[in-house]
Amino acid sequence: MRTRTTYRHVVHKIIEHPDTDVTHGAECLHCGWSATSSTDSKVVDVACMEHTGRSNHKGFRRIRTSFEMVVRAE
Ligand SMILES: [Zn+2]
Repeated sequence: MRTRTTYRHVVHKIIEHPDTDVTHGAECLHCGWSATSSTDSKVVDVACMEHTGRSNHKGFRRIRTSFEMVVRAE
């Protein structure tokens, strides 16, 4: 018995999930401080600079969280 299989190559892409926000956060590299997460990255920028002003800590780990989904690229 001979089996023949046809493969169809479908191109996909990954996009940001509709109806979701990108969330920005930050953690100090020198102490346990972390910024309140915000959908506005500038709010987190300001929070980091204020933390530097109070503590003289100058390094931060920035976190950008988004929700994404794979869809067919057509
Ligand atoms: Zn700190």
